[in-house]
Amino acid sequence: MAGNITLTIIKPDAFGAGKAGKVLAHLEQQGFTVRAARVMHLTQAQAGEFYGVHRERPFYGSLVSFMTSGPCMPMILEKADAVASLRTAIGATDPAQADEGTVRKLFAESKERNAIHASDSDENAERESRFFFSESDVLAAK
Ligand code: GDP
Repeated sequence: MAGNITLTIIKPDAFGAGKAGKVLAHLEQQGFTVRAARVMHLTQAQAGEFYGVHRERPFYGSLVSFMTSGPCMPMILEKADAVASLRTAIGATDPAQADEGTVRKLFAESKERNAIHASDSDENAERESRFFFSESDVLAAK
């Protein structure tokens, strides 16, 4: 059965441009509820670990540099079938390919500076939630 929580990050481009409120309002309008939230400025080590799956990709260094360029806003969101629902709501990685009305179509600047992260599986939602939040925060969110 699909889980009801997922992990999102309003990335430094959108947060720094003062779009966090608009992104969150957009998601709340689509039925997502915030169960945990924080604002933090990732270190190189944290961003490198979070995106470790992309370590061999040519854009890895640039991605880590972008993700450490300013504060971001990780959140645990709740909704039925949360992972799939949020992936649909954010749209394609490249905003030029994203459907109308998606977060990336509305707020992203480029394929890298694309406003928002969303977990791609229940397993990663759990792992990524624990990356940013305490055990008790994650348990309370579920
Ligand atoms: P997502 O699940 O849609 O966020 O996409 P991925 O997991 O494939 O990539 C993680 C993040 O790396 C994306 O959200 C972008 O910020 C960045 N990224 C992905 N592909 C590229 C690329 O081809 N070039 C650059 N510069 N950044 C990329």
